[in-house]
Amino acid sequence: YHIQYFDEPTYKYHLCYCSTLEQMESMNRFNSRYVVTQRVDGNFLIDIIDKYSGRYHKEDSLYKLNVCINCLKKLRNTYPHDSLFSYRRFDLDQFLTGYNTKHIKRPQYSEKTIPKDKYSENWSDISNKMRSRAEYKCSKCHESYKDDKAQLHVHHIDGVKWNNNINNLKVLCIDCHSKEPGHFGISRRNNSFNGKFVRNL
Ligand SMILES: [Zn+2]
Ligand SMILES: [Zn+2]
Ligand SMILES: [Zn+2]
Repeated sequence: YHIQYFDEPTYKYHLCYCSTLEQMESMNRFNSRYVVTQRVDGNFLIDIIDKYSGRYHKEDSLYKLNVCINCLKKLRNTYPHDSLFSYRRFDLDQFLTGYNTKHIKRPQYSEKTIPKDKYSENWSDISNKMRSRAEYKCSKCHESYKDDKAQLHVHHIDGVKWNNNINNLKVLCIDCHSKEPGHFGISRRNNSFNGKFVRNL
């Protein structure tokens, strides 16, 4: 199987409440996955974490990120007479000088206050409790995994590992779990290889 390592982050930074953020919010992925920042130089503080091992490749590193094209599109529509909002012409300095950057909606955390993307210490207890309470049945296909509990996972709906709010957790079998957004790498093969981590995504 194949594990993807990112040498360079693929995150984008946003300038307004664009269609991407709207879509993320509709999937409950806005509030705890985006941060407000005061940075003005186009460099952003990020962690690069391997998706399947949880290993931190980089922690609190400054990276130059690209601007979100849906933000540019929205701003182009709002300010049709300003040629700044084309992908090639865009300049962050010029934008910050000329425009108010008040977002319509702000996520609750800044890059300094957001918890690290890690599981809480009592996570394995929570995961065990959730699965036992579900009687080891997948909440989607209702298959029983009583005899093969390792194939039954607890999924974080918003993709945030520390968000153990009961409404954010879903007991899913490995096959149903692999169909959740961004989970294409989960398979029976890497479950046995690195199950402990994959099970808890
Ligand atoms: Zn955007
Ligand atoms: Zn299932
Ligand atoms: Zn998951």
